[in-house]
Amino acid sequence: MTDLLVINANLFRISDNLKKPRTKEQLKELFPIENGAFAVNDGKFIDIGSTKELLKKYSHKTKEVVDAKNRAILPGFVDPHTHALFKGTRENEFKMRLEGKSYMEILNAGGGILNSVKNIRNSNIDELAENLAKRVKLFFVYGTTTFEAKSGYGLDFENEIKMLEAIKKVNLETDAEIIPTFIGAHAIPYEYRNNKKAYIDIIINEMIPYIAEHKLAEFIDVFCEKGVYSAEETKMILTAGMEYGLKAKIHSDEIEAIGCTELAKEIKMFSCDHLLKITNRGLNALKSTDTIATLLPGTAFSLKEKYAPARAIIDYGIAPAIATDCNPGSSYSESMPEIITLSVMQMGMTPEEALSAATINAAYAIDKAEHIGSIDIGKQADFIILNENSYLFIPYHYGINPVNSTYKKGVKVAFSANN
Ligand SMILES: [Zn+2]
Repeated sequence: MTDLLVINANLFRISDNLKKPRTKEQLKELFPIENGAFAVNDGKFIDIGSTKELLKKYSHKTKEVVDAKNRAILPGFVDPHTHALFKGTRENEFKMRLEGKSYMEILNAGGGILNSVKNIRNSNIDELAENLAKRVKLFFVYGTTTFEAKSGYGLDFENEIKMLEAIKKVNLETDAEIIPTFIGAHAIPYEYRNNKKAYIDIIINEMIPYIAEHKLAEFIDVFCEKGVYSAEETKMILTAGMEYGLKAKIHSDEIEAIGCTELAKEIKMFSCDHLLKITNRGLNALKSTDTIATLLPGTAFSLKEKYAPARAIIDYGIAPAIATDCNPGSSYSESMPEIITLSVMQMGMTPEEALSAATINAAYAIDKAEHIGSIDIGKQADFIILNENSYLFIPYHYGINPVNSTYKKGVKVAFSANN
């Protein structure tokens, strides 16, 4: 017996045939199968082909048949950069921004990241986990089957660990697959504003060893930016994390280019994220590595900033991924369809490039391409059925949810009423 047979699908497999992140022309190949089908057992794809062929092989021995009725099926979206664990929202600050207030004015009014830090410090693990579990449902509704989530609103030993413990709890207690990233170096905590070095020492000597020992994070990230962490400090923190087995990624070139992206040449980095202000030096550095450029157009949209130069990044032969950056300050959205729309309409990516960036390349950005990001035999059966027969409806019929249903490991985890 097999668990599930899906038939009559306009299937876009986005196959991981290359076994490496896609670049240039490779981004455009979605591996379509018209009137396609696949079989799922034990949460994995076990066969893929035409409806006719698979009906013959499996119809007499499957527990369930799903008729896609010629709708488009894609791999579940992978969101490789979020700050989805937070407590409380910052809509007042959003209003101040719309009224033209500066970042400093907002910060002085008790807003900004320090607002999120206060809320995390005032919550316990159960409250944080409950909050994140609610958000997981929304990720599923919009077709995301795996996402990365960072610490970074605790900014001290106890609260950074608490955030990572909350992520672990949600992974254990729900269908979610959340990849945890430690970013103690997300900002400089207020109490260390005049002594950054002492805080970096705590990150390196206390937080990293504890997190590694208790396996609370897979990645280590740093907000490498002028006035936050310099390229030199970033290198020190990432190197310390890597010595404990954490994998490196960074926030870089978001507000100003200060040489952070260039670190990819010296340190094995899985992704450099944001890149709104990337320079030719940064582009050349990434070009010579396997590092993914993770672009976050929702942040440029929300902050009314210039978008990252996706076309130049692709022309250089750098592999792009796209992500929501879901957070309560600069990009409050769980919707990868919205991010695909912005990538197409504002960053000049083709719909096919954006889809590769939202699935297989995003899986590479979090080092999970062996298991997710494409519809290939042996991979986890994470897939979405759209409402329409073409993926073009994602950017074309924008602002609505194009996802009909979402399956994680072969199990339906979300279903929209719009059908
Ligand atoms: Zn971020």
